[in-house]
Amino acid sequence: MKPTPAQKSTPLVSPASAAVVRDAPTQLFIGGEWVSATEDRTFPVVDPSIGDVIATVSDGDIADGISAVDAAENASAAWKATSPRRRSDVLMKCFHLVLEQAEWLAQLITVENGKALADARSEVAYAAEFFRWYAEEAVRAPGEFGPAPSGANHIIVNHEPIGIAVLVTPWNFPAAMATRKIAPALAAGCTCILKPAAETPLTALAIGEIMRQAGVPAGVVNIVTTKKAGPVVSAMLHDKRVRKLSFTGSTGVGRTLLREAADQVVSCSMELGGNAPFIVFDDADLETAVAGAMVAKMRNGGEACTAANRFYVQKGILADFTRRFAEEMAALKVGPGLVPSTQLGPLITEAAVAKVERLVDDAVAKGARIVTGGSRLNGDGFYYPPTVLADVSPDAEILREEIFGPVAPIIAFETEDEVVQMANDTEYGLVSYVFSSDLKRALAVTGRLESGMVGINRGVVSDAAAPFGGMKQSGLGREGSHHGMLEYLETKYIAASW
Ligand code: NAD
Repeated sequence: MKPTPAQKSTPLVSPASAAVVRDAPTQLFIGGEWVSATEDRTFPVVDPSIGDVIATVSDGDIADGISAVDAAENASAAWKATSPRRRSDVLMKCFHLVLEQAEWLAQLITVENGKALADARSEVAYAAEFFRWYAEEAVRAPGEFGPAPSGANHIIVNHEPIGIAVLVTPWNFPAAMATRKIAPALAAGCTCILKPAAETPLTALAIGEIMRQAGVPAGVVNIVTTKKAGPVVSAMLHDKRVRKLSFTGSTGVGRTLLREAADQVVSCSMELGGNAPFIVFDDADLETAVAGAMVAKMRNGGEACTAANRFYVQKGILADFTRRFAEEMAALKVGPGLVPSTQLGPLITEAAVAKVERLVDDAVAKGARIVTGGSRLNGDGFYYPPTVLADVSPDAEILREEIFGPVAPIIAFETEDEVVQMANDTEYGLVSYVFSSDLKRALAVTGRLESGMVGINRGVVSDAAAPFGGMKQSGLGREGSHHGMLEYLETKYIAASW
């Protein structure tokens, strides 16, 4: 029997949302100016906590996208020639200005994305960190110099800015996914056009204004908001001046964009979907594993590419882990993100709720047992409660698709070989989590997992200083760390004799 659905206890906050968005820019940011879209077209932005429109934003079309490429081209030579130290100083100014406006940015994220304010504050800190990290990296571009084996010449290797970059970002981390691309692009000496998700354009535009205030020269960063992502991005990728695409989003759209980019052989960095296994061995510390599970599942309300999607728990710890995890999940306070006590806000859209509902219903139809949650919440806004499912069948859709919501399916396992086989049985390979008190075992299992990142006894791996990215169909390339800047640099080899 399904437990009774919890009710949202907190009031709606639409006047508060309106106050937050009042000062946010809503036009396109091209060549350092705020401009209307062609024919003044706009599209609405919805607050997921109430399901109402809170702002309208310029709806750019192909001509606006190309005019952003013009602006990036006009700024390109001067920015490339700007000293690394100067680029570093500007990025550091961005870091400080983001921190100065951190609370407002967090509220802006919350009203257009829905996430709880605590999650939004963490995101702003994480987003700011990319400005600081790449301010520090801007002055450390690598190079090589050495004799050729023949002795006839020297080999010099320089790294040059790759050229104009198109950056396409998702709605789930509207600030951090933007700065994770813009900061290394600028550090490398590239100019760029950001195309943020239509669900969350306000945060991206606010970051544009902060960068303008920080002294980023006109045209170095341009932002085109649009409902017509396909044609606008395609037109930019078919403009010969564009040399780089950095995309974060679903694997399906990533495949489409790789095809689009192929026509002009545009360099691609792809941060795509995930289906993270979370593995708990019998010898794991129970409280560490539960705390890790809470953050790996519930950071960002489950709407993270790194979210634990499948919980594989060894039989000896299964009952205790399931009980403790379900207790913690059931205790979370659900409500509008701006309400201070809220720990889980709404999902992004009604369609996202419907998808989660479909996956849970399919799992239950195939024999899963609902331990907590399991049915949508009544009322306005796009809410789904924290949910734990036990005894999930291997053929349940929920183990194949990204859930992107607050649902944790638990599957029992017995042997190391069995869990490695199940964990790797997916086309995705972004991140895995391993919990064990035996580091030797954890590292041995880690070596067999097909994922670009592994958290050992930790539910979070994201760090501006670390190479973030996936194997298999979770992506190409890495963001963050010095690897992230290399994605915006082209290698030039010089054979020199004198
Ligand atoms: P999405 O793929 O639907 O959209 C991502 C971006 O692509 C948006 O800006 C969207 O407007 C744009 N887009 C959509 N169709 C397009 C097209 N045909 N041409 C050009 N652009 C297009 O993804 P989403 O729903 O916004 O975000 C959720 C997805 O992002 C999940 O799959 C998640 O795993 C992934 N994600 C990955 C990472 C990572 O680092 N690997 C980080 C965050 C999110």
